[in-house]
Amino acid sequence: ERAEAECYRGRASVTRGGRKIELCANVGGPEDIEAALAGDAEGIGLFRSEFLYLQRSDYPDEETQLSAYRDVLERMGGKRVVIRTLDIGADKQADYFQLPPEENPAMGMRAIRICLTRPEVFRTQLRALYRASVYGKLAIMFPMITSPAEVRSVLEAAAAVRGELDAEGIPYAGDVELGIMIETPAAALLSEELARQVDFFSVGTNDLTQYTLALDRQNASVACFDDPEHRAVLRLIAMAAENAHRAGIWIGICGELGADPSLLQTFLDLGIDELSMSPGAILRTRMQVCQMGQ
Ligand code: PEP
Ligand code: MG
Repeated sequence: ERAEAECYRGRASVTRGGRKIELCANVGGPEDIEAALAGDAEGIGLFRSEFLYLQRSDYPDEETQLSAYRDVLERMGGKRVVIRTLDIGADKQADYFQLPPEENPAMGMRAIRICLTRPEVFRTQLRALYRASVYGKLAIMFPMITSPAEVRSVLEAAAAVRGELDAEGIPYAGDVELGIMIETPAAALLSEELARQVDFFSVGTNDLTQYTLALDRQNASVACFDDPEHRAVLRLIAMAAENAHRAGIWIGICGELGADPSLLQTFLDLGIDELSMSPGAILRTRMQVCQMGQ
């Protein structure tokens, strides 16, 4: 099957009925870019920025972040790179954040909640991202969103950073897309409103499943209760897809479910525009897309 999938290298991911879907790579750091390119990714659909924050003793400064973002944008040669703002907390802890111990870390101080309570940390990352935007095609994505009010705060922070850069005469791209992850049931349920605020959605099925099914993704003893095709999760994805398209924005899937061969037809039927997955799954998925009827 691997050799057969190789034939699809360099081709577009289009069904026989003419439906096109973009197949992108999930990456966890600069060392994965090579794999994304080797896997023939059409872009990076999820660049997890946590690597910059983990395994160090203090916050990464603006220059350190700028050089990491610039590097991935340049290496992807103009293909879209979706960089997710920090998703620290829960399973990804960094001591210098000095987050208090929590009973339920998955429901605690993590991701966008840290950014909104520590505006300086957020600002530094946003400045580095916008400064890097002139080196490629950047999109910025915000994790763990649960409400339109959070999105408003996030967009205000981004606008403030653009204002600062303007005042300092520092260039940035004018077409940086801003999107959110749909990975809480609240975000899916409010997706009609959220779709009017942002440029794209990307569904994080790992967390969306965890929060919808009340199933701790870290807890192996309940893994047997996981149903990757649970209709509750699929219904939330369908709702988000419908609301995205009604508002004229694109929607992708960047959780594990995005690479599930048995769900590909469902996702195409829902009109999902992009699937982001581990690089090694891209050619196999493209072969499956190209062999599909409609
Ligand atoms: C997800 O939740 O599905 C996701 C893609 O993000 P992460 O796995 O990094 O939480
Ligand atoms: Mg997640």
